[in-house]
Amino acid sequence: MREPLVIPPGVAEAIVAHARAAAPRECCGLVSGDGRRCRVVHPLTNVAASADEFAADDRQQTAVREAVRASGGRIVAVYHSHPRTEARPSRADVARWFTPRVAHVIVSLAGAEPELRAFCIDPSTDPPVHELAIADGRTAPA
Ligand SMILES: [Zn+2]
Repeated sequence: MREPLVIPPGVAEAIVAHARAAAPRECCGLVSGDGRRCRVVHPLTNVAASADEFAADDRQQTAVREAVRASGGRIVAVYHSHPRTEARPSRADVARWFTPRVAHVIVSLAGAEPELRAFCIDPSTDPPVHELAIADGRTAPA
């Protein structure tokens, strides 16, 4: 789980566009692909409709997971936005995200430019949060 996460430019742009459309509320969604490569962004409705938390619509989330599984892909990452704070998991994010097999992407809109960062959150390690390198898929990972 510590290899770089591959987020091609088109995928990053789609996540940022969703974050901007949802602001000042948080957005959330899933990213499917294969291995460590993100390919398709699946925006979900944030039923919490909040500026500092999110809760994905359950029915939408189940539908996306089933469609991705049926097409032979996997959920590579979960993403959400931080409209006003930095792109690091909040304490609440860490408490709820004990799914080390899926990367957690956070996009921050707090700065002049959107910032995308990726994390692995694993309760069996200390500390539980590890930042993942992001590759754009255009060059071979080092
Ligand atoms: Zn958060």
